[in-house]
Amino acid sequence: STIAGAVSLALTLSACGQDDGGASADGSEGGTIGVAMPTRASERWLTDGKSVVDDLAAKGYKTTLVYGDDDPKRQVAQIEKLIEEGVDALIIAAIDNKSMDGVLKKAADAEIPVISYDRLILDTKNVDYYVSFDNEQVGRLQARYIIDKLGLEDGKGPFNIELFAGSPDDNNTRYFYDGAMHLLKPYLDTKQLVVRSGETDMDQVTTLRWDGPTAQKRMNSVLTKAYRSATVDAVLSPYDGISIGVLNSLKAHGYGSAAKPLPVITGQDAELASVKSIIDDEQSQTVYKDLRLLAEMAANMVDDVLNGKTPNLNSRRAYNNGAKPVPAYLLQPTSVDKSNYKDVLVAGGYYTAAELK
Ligand code: BGC
Repeated sequence: STIAGAVSLALTLSACGQDDGGASADGSEGGTIGVAMPTRASERWLTDGKSVVDDLAAKGYKTTLVYGDDDPKRQVAQIEKLIEEGVDALIIAAIDNKSMDGVLKKAADAEIPVISYDRLILDTKNVDYYVSFDNEQVGRLQARYIIDKLGLEDGKGPFNIELFAGSPDDNNTRYFYDGAMHLLKPYLDTKQLVVRSGETDMDQVTTLRWDGPTAQKRMNSVLTKAYRSATVDAVLSPYDGISIGVLNSLKAHGYGSAAKPLPVITGQDAELASVKSIIDDEQSQTVYKDLRLLAEMAANMVDDVLNGKTPNLNSRRAYNNGAKPVPAYLLQPTSVDKSNYKDVLVAGGYYTAAELK
């Protein structure tokens, strides 16, 4: 299964102590693909790494998979090393989307094609294709969930909401936040939704490196500052790990009883702990992105590029990364809550029923 595979991959990596050198999977004649992922601290990226390696192996490629442990400098050094080792192509999910120009210049000089994986790499001409999900839609799904659960379209309210965004150095953060705010703004304007902390600009609500404990601290200070005599009814959270931090804070402030129920709280990635939290009526929703499809698209892209073919692209627009329009393939995310997790996640083979016990 996905998780068992991810766990065993993590064990392999740590057992070999190969945080910089990476793990090589056996393949045949196709060449070697360097795969640079951001972190092992979040389950999704373990699944991504394993799926990309497996898909490339099935196409006859060797791979060198490295994890940057959320340290941009370390990731750049890892990619530099992959280039020196002579990889034939690079698949990169960047930690700091603006830190890649120098190293990708070296990749271009060595004629190594670069696929920007999940996160758009910014401010460099040396990125060939972008494969991701419709990230604005991720934010819209989170906002839509809050709107429906609170009954805002039926005129209910006013309700108190607090807003969280992802890491400021990740280009996806902006898409998620803008997508959500586009739907929430009309209700903020009519004051059916009220942000008692007053923190609504993205810069005020970001969470460096998507870190749960950082979000927990911010939620603590928001609750202390603005909710002494009020309760929070909804929290826009962009990522399951942030939702966990927010939930920890809420529980420490007495939420989670009949008298003081937990707010509606969104998430993203359908990580195992958070799906269990949804089943337990704590987190309300998550946005599921089938990483198996993302990995498969990335492997197809690499294979096409190395065989001189134009990859399959479905995005109506190329994504301007500040230096050029990057042609893209975007997949569709799915909103998941307690009502549909079995249909989507279990029937879809992402988790087994046993894993969710
Ligand atoms: C990804 C999300 C993920 C977040 C934190 C984003 O770039 O698109 O799926 O939740 O990073 O890892």
